[in-house]
Amino acid sequence: MSLRRSTDRKTANLVSPNGKTPKIANSFGLPAGRAYSCPGATATCQRVCYAGRLEHGKGVREFVARNLDQLIEQDRAGMAELLAEMLTDFRTDCERARSKGATVPLAFRIHWDGDFFSLPYAQAWADVIGANPDIRFWVYTRSFDPATLDVLPALGGLPNLTVYLSVDPDNIAAAEQARRRHPWVGWAYLAETFTAGREVLADQPGKRYPCPENGGRIPLISGKGSACIRCGICPSGRGDVIFSISKR
Ligand code: SF4
Repeated sequence: MSLRRSTDRKTANLVSPNGKTPKIANSFGLPAGRAYSCPGATATCQRVCYAGRLEHGKGVREFVARNLDQLIEQDRAGMAELLAEMLTDFRTDCERARSKGATVPLAFRIHWDGDFFSLPYAQAWADVIGANPDIRFWVYTRSFDPATLDVLPALGGLPNLTVYLSVDPDNIAAAEQARRRHPWVGWAYLAETFTAGREVLADQPGKRYPCPENGGRIPLISGKGSACIRCGICPSGRGDVIFSISKR
């Protein structure tokens, strides 16, 4: 029994020499949707869920469902054990590539698909993130509303983790309250256009950036690396990020 990592062209920490293929699986996915791992799903995110669309391939759906099936059988310690084994394999892949001369940042994107589905699951992630201080983790979550599920109390105080609230017009009030309770979180705001997103975030603290990949200013993947490793805003948590549904 083991959890399975995914490759993600947008977040890959090592790309093939032709610039087309991720070489190391540095992300983790669960099935998306309110009935599965996303208790905080909103009407807007269900309308445009990129990851959920990728699940339409039967193989992908089964792949991420298998991860969830294994986790929900476990308590916090059992989930942490499974996650730790997965990260050990990730580290081994990175070290092997480094031994061949590749430059490989230890960077791991939690949840290319899905979300935190329970507090013990988030606590298990906190346990393994704390135990791997040299790996940079980042995650986006809609599980921040105490009315459904709020995992933020479990994820604070981890210097190698960046947490973004996935915010859209449907959950903005809950996001404002969450940021008052947890000022260390960022916002990843999904708007119809970048201009609309800038207007909504105008009163928010700190800096904000339109996602350069979403806006077509850098490619998803290329010989220079994946978009997120090149850009670095989300892994580092440099500021809030705006995503545009229309890509304009
Ligand atoms: S802002 Fe940068 S790091 Fe964040 S999703 Fe866009 S490309 Fe990736």
